[in-house]
Amino acid sequence: MQLAELYKVYLANPRISTDTRKIEAGSIFFALKGANFNGNAFAQEALDKGAIYAVIDEKKYQNSEKCILVKNVLKTLQQLATLHRKNLDIPFIAIAGSNGKTTTKELTALVLAQKYKTFATQGNLNNHIGVPLTILSIPKDTEIAVIELGANHIGETVFLCQIAQPTCGVVTNIGLDHLEGFGSLEGVAKANSELYKYLQKNKGVIFLNTNEKELLSVLEKLKFPKKRTFTYPNEKDYLHCKLGSSDFFVSYENEQGNFIQTQLIGKYNFANIATALCIGKYFGVAPEKMDEAILSYKPRNNRSQILHQNTNIVILDAYNANPSSMKEAIENFAQIQTSQSKAVILGQMNELGSYSYAEHQKLGKLIAEKNFDLVVLYGDEMQPALEFLPKAYFFTDKFSLHNWLKDKNLQDWFILVKGSRGVQMESVLDFL
Ligand code: ATP
Ligand code: MG
Repeated sequence: MQLAELYKVYLANPRISTDTRKIEAGSIFFALKGANFNGNAFAQEALDKGAIYAVIDEKKYQNSEKCILVKNVLKTLQQLATLHRKNLDIPFIAIAGSNGKTTTKELTALVLAQKYKTFATQGNLNNHIGVPLTILSIPKDTEIAVIELGANHIGETVFLCQIAQPTCGVVTNIGLDHLEGFGSLEGVAKANSELYKYLQKNKGVIFLNTNEKELLSVLEKLKFPKKRTFTYPNEKDYLHCKLGSSDFFVSYENEQGNFIQTQLIGKYNFANIATALCIGKYFGVAPEKMDEAILSYKPRNNRSQILHQNTNIVILDAYNANPSSMKEAIENFAQIQTSQSKAVILGQMNELGSYSYAEHQKLGKLIAEKNFDLVVLYGDEMQPALEFLPKAYFFTDKFSLHNWLKDKNLQDWFILVKGSRGVQMESVLDFL
């Protein structure tokens, strides 16, 4: 079937599903392939469960007229999203960068929703499948879209830009994420500059945190036009807001001189808030409405959450970790004044490739400087950190870690829990 024809089918049934376990009646099933599955084999099940059509790319599974055979299902999904995006005449704000994309996206969406019908990426659907799915789920009456763009190799951001066709964009920061795929910090910078290049070519607008020196130098090299650059958070910038003095929850002084105490922890979240405020200002959201939106945001999904576990207070930041976000989280935790003893329970950082040894070693050094009362480390890759931490407890299997915590029975501690998604450090909560 031709793309134009398929698009007509989509417009008449604008719901897509890719998972037969969560199929919606009346949706179009796209039979994607993964490392361990072939969606084609589930096409019939999808139709039986109420899908109106199944888009497949293997002829042998074409056993009803409801199966639409294409050359490549994934490519078709991406092309359909690209075409749909072209037909949506609304601002698209892309959020890329190493850390803080999802938080920034959520804050921005809340701020913009005060004035516009806003649609944002659901959860973390930020890759070559998630971005097309996001675009294809944008309701017709949407006035503005906020799209998270993830990348773990060079070329991915520009590819996603071609699908999402952003009119505005933010790179949150350039840090040490996905080093396995990017190769180096320069690699990360190059990957993120792809969004800037796209916006430069397409006369788009960028929002820029001028405290991020790496970003400034990328833009300088690109000669990105100043008149299409909206900066924050310092005095001479487009948006002026200041980090407040509380050392637990982030507070900020807005442009009107009012202090707003948020439900977010970690100084790094100030940058995410300032980004959302800058975008809100650009799109004309009233200042007090923006503050209301920011105030209402409570972190979820293991991202910088504050939890009261029995007598302990836990900062649960176990959604993910890389050298930059680990450093930020530890510095922030160390800085908080408390009468409680402090413990860090940290899982290994994945996807560092050949940098893994040195980055875990550096992490060990940083933790040692902070003199926490208790250091618990988890995962084989953490081993190099022990060089600086002779008193740390080290585990390579969850069973031993959990049993040890159970026996230790921590009471009245202040605890930071963080690690890569793969090591799911939130599992320790049951033992605190
Ligand atoms: P992913 O690459 O997994 O999509 P992300 O960029 O969307 O991540 P978030 O999910 O918003 O990032 O935040 C993940 C973690 O990164 C947070 O829990 C926090 O530890 C850290 N973090 C958030 N914002 C920043 C920031 N501006 N600078 C540094 N670290 C941050
Ligand atoms: Mg994310």
